[in-house]
Amino acid sequence: MKKLITTALTSALFMSVAPQAMADDHQLNEHQQRAREIYEEIIGYRTARGHNMVPTMANSLAKRLIDAGFASDDVQVVEMDANGDPTALLIARYPGNGSGKKPIALLGHMDVVDALPEDWERAPFTLIEEDGYFFGRGTTDNKAGITMLTNTFIRLKQEGFVPDRDMYIMFSGDEETGMITTQALAGKYAKEYGIEFALNSDAGGGGLDENNQAVGYGIQAAEKTFVTFELTATNPGGHSSRPRADNAIYDLADALKAVQAYKFPVRSSELTRSYFATMGQQTPGETGEAMRAFAKNPEDKKAADFLRSKPEYVGTLGTTCVATMLRGGHAENALPQSATATVNCRVFPGISIESVQQKLQTAVNSPDIQFKIMGDPTSSPESEVRPEILAAVTKSIHGRYPGLTIYPYMTSGGTDGKHFRRNGIPTVALSGLFSKPSDMFAHGLNERVQVKQFYDAVDHWYIVLKEIVGSK
Ligand SMILES: [Zn+2]
Repeated sequence: MKKLITTALTSALFMSVAPQAMADDHQLNEHQQRAREIYEEIIGYRTARGHNMVPTMANSLAKRLIDAGFASDDVQVVEMDANGDPTALLIARYPGNGSGKKPIALLGHMDVVDALPEDWERAPFTLIEEDGYFFGRGTTDNKAGITMLTNTFIRLKQEGFVPDRDMYIMFSGDEETGMITTQALAGKYAKEYGIEFALNSDAGGGGLDENNQAVGYGIQAAEKTFVTFELTATNPGGHSSRPRADNAIYDLADALKAVQAYKFPVRSSELTRSYFATMGQQTPGETGEAMRAFAKNPEDKKAADFLRSKPEYVGTLGTTCVATMLRGGHAENALPQSATATVNCRVFPGISIESVQQKLQTAVNSPDIQFKIMGDPTSSPESEVRPEILAAVTKSIHGRYPGLTIYPYMTSGGTDGKHFRRNGIPTVALSGLFSKPSDMFAHGLNERVQVKQFYDAVDHWYIVLKEIVGSK
């Protein structure tokens, strides 16, 4: 079913109207047109794992940059193997004026979570403009970011702009899976270039209410650690006609009930307190009251408990762990020889994975439950939002929405930024896009972004970068 958007804002943006022919107040300038062209091209690459399209996309972006005047020596595509899947990273250096200031990095990822055409209402790897939206896999995550950064580099270059330090575009190619390219960028390359801090296009951004009124803008400055444990109970088993007292499934069930009952201690940081202080100012009712109380006094148990009862805030108040998958037994007439549950945790920055495991083990209190950490979790510290970054973002965002609240926040997900932070490179994410809660479809079906928001964001990085690295 198509969503009908009937606001005056979007009614001028009809489907299949070529950008050049749009209603007069939406006449595109050359930067918006180029952004649209890049966006359309790169949405067309199925850069999901298994399709070998990331190198193609990286080479195409590299060619665009070189065609726009970047020295070919300054633009490199490095093809890499990501656990058996060919991918690539892209680095483009924008030379500075040689002031001696350390370079900065601009981050985005070229890969996407796969989308199955048979499940989507529209072709996922074609940019489709309809009802005031751009639809397609990656329209938000993260091909808009890749488009905006590439487009801004081209625009600044064509203008003859010279930054007060080198800037590096660093686009990864497997952010959604193994982050092999991310680790190369955040490790080897960032070290080689001496990157001072990084700005990420893959998080941050503004919120709109359902009437398209802006409600706030967030700068992502921290990420919780994503850790998955497997809990396994084993048992000699036997025939189900002769039950024994101990049973792998019952043992695991007891362990899971203990995990469910356990609450990690409430945590806060300067960042999360400032987040709640700011959000509390504009959140009505009991929720806003609890936010303000918690910001003032994180020991306020009543406020913390109230906020923790809300799924949208529980993650900001400490570590969370929750059962997500379950398997066990091998035949309907056999006693189970093993049962395993997957428990996914989002660990508050600064808290070690070992201590989380220890707390869970204490809660479970059974030597028969084996704990196994899955994968290779990456923990990362919070990053400071430097005053010059806040000032630059404020200039861009207030140009669009005067006086809008701007706040730092922590996400529970994982972006490339965590690898940079882990390696000592402060990283904040500041996408130029605004969206409504009902438009959040990243990783899901029918991913989309408002056409107006896309074009409004075209100047975002241009303003931000000129503020941060413009010669003063
Ligand atoms: Zn992303």
